[in-house]
Amino acid sequence: MARFRTRFAPSPTYYLHLGHALSAFHVWRAAAIAGGEVLLRIEDIDTTRCRPEYTQAIYDDLEWLGFTWPEPVRVQSEHFPDFAQCVSRLCDEGLAYRCFRTRAELAALQNPATPGAHAPDEEAALLDEDRPYAWRLSLQAAREKIGAEWESLSYEEQTPQGVITRQADPECHGDIVIARKDSPSAYHIAATHDDALQGVTHIVRGEDLIEAPHIHTLLQTLFDWPRPIYQHHALLLDQDGQKLSKRQQSVPLASLRADGMTADQIRQRLGFS
Ligand code: GLU
Repeated sequence: MARFRTRFAPSPTYYLHLGHALSAFHVWRAAAIAGGEVLLRIEDIDTTRCRPEYTQAIYDDLEWLGFTWPEPVRVQSEHFPDFAQCVSRLCDEGLAYRCFRTRAELAALQNPATPGAHAPDEEAALLDEDRPYAWRLSLQAAREKIGAEWESLSYEEQTPQGVITRQADPECHGDIVIARKDSPSAYHIAATHDDALQGVTHIVRGEDLIEAPHIHTLLQTLFDWPRPIYQHHALLLDQDGQKLSKRQQSVPLASLRADGMTADQIRQRLGFS
């Protein structure tokens, strides 16, 4: 396995913006410092929101910014059977259940960490009504399965002070969605599956995903996948150190390019010159 292999894994639900460019600079710089490589992965499993033109724009924008990556690129929508197999395995092992409750209904439950499956007759009735549902990972069942290991679940994080070990707390996510009635996989399964498949050793991404390792570590344990080292970068700030507004942040890189901005100016603007 490579000593340092990371990935940039955007979702083509819209055009890339400055926040994505910032993340890409962090990812490619971390790999350059370590003498490693960056894979590009297209996370397009949400077929209702992803569009081919956004995928093409990802390639165009990243090339314009000067990044390179090995081919072929893994495009997740071409690999649904891989993710479905993972979901089936969790179901077969009794670690997942069908949940017809909405997010609001779940939040209103007394003990949201263990919302539990529906009773068999209730589930049958809801299925009969053709109601939408999600497959959720049962943390309670996962905990029973891995036993004492649950208490020592941990992951490594690269910080400015060096690599530190953090206790993983999967419960901060509750019973995550692993698939839906009309969708064979959700983000956590697809991302962790592909990180393992692609031999990703380091994951560099924004602080918006700082809690993801808590649940990813559990999935890696259940599937016996290796655990990468995580690194989180600060999100985009404006010149005054304030978080960029959604509006400023969501200006497509393609529009900035069309307005005559150069890749070097983007690099400078993001502090990577
Ligand atoms: N596809 C995710 C996004 O665009 C990134 C996930 C990841 O880096 O694990 O937010």
